[in-house]
Amino acid sequence: MKLIRYGNPGQEKPGLILSDNKRIDISGFGEDFNEHFFGTDGLKRLRIWLDENKQNCKEISPSERLGPPCCRPSKIICVGLNYAKHAAEGGMAVPSEPVLFFKASSAIVGPNDDLIIPKGSDKTDWEVELAVVIGAAASYVENESAMDHVAGYVLHNDYSERHFQLEREGQWVKGKSCDTFAPIGPFIATREEIPDPHNLNLWLKLNGKTVQNSNTSDFIFDIPTVVSYISQFMTLLPGDIISTGTPFGVGLGMKPPRYLVPGDVIELGIDGLGSSKQVARSFQ
Ligand code: MG
Repeated sequence: MKLIRYGNPGQEKPGLILSDNKRIDISGFGEDFNEHFFGTDGLKRLRIWLDENKQNCKEISPSERLGPPCCRPSKIICVGLNYAKHAAEGGMAVPSEPVLFFKASSAIVGPNDDLIIPKGSDKTDWEVELAVVIGAAASYVENESAMDHVAGYVLHNDYSERHFQLEREGQWVKGKSCDTFAPIGPFIATREEIPDPHNLNLWLKLNGKTVQNSNTSDFIFDIPTVVSYISQFMTLLPGDIISTGTPFGVGLGMKPPRYLVPGDVIELGIDGLGSSKQVARSFQ
């Protein structure tokens, strides 16, 4: 299934994209895509409900805004430097175990919402990433069973303010958490939609020019490793998002570096997970 949420910010309703690309409202199911939904076998219950009710679901107008395809999760955990060539462009060594950092969940916006360049920023950068949505709580899970805790996958742009991230002391969280720094979507693809998440092309274009173009087969740490690893330090809750890192081609790595300015258009996509588009705006 492909899960979406649509409507005005803060008032989104749940929906689905069907195999014929028709988008339907599933408000009648009575639940939103949140921790309770994922943690109580909501995907299975939704499938059963659809068998009875799909034909009565109203179609969603193509003009409706898409919101983030899940409710705000308890946390977003990001993996840094998970593609060898990206680590090299940042001048950083390939890590011996996953590098983790947090991103505030208040940064989440819809896939095509504007990027707001934060106050005082002159180094806002892009990062196309495959994100994983947790389906069942995970604490001290082994690699072998880690995928049982995954509900699906979603496209994410891990926007990053490099000055805040790298030149302001302490952890990366300052440069990762600004409002609008986590556009996710257009949809969550449930696991069966993506048979091999470790062989997906992912790309990002800046003003129509391709700047990132890689494949998740270049991961240093694969998804089961990352899920198992994080679960050694914290409990992953249903609906939590893990962003698996970005490939080569961010603005920081260009010579000279290229950072975002108002009016820039950022488009990104991953095989099987659709595409998104943000326009950069200045903070008002
Ligand atoms: Mg990243």
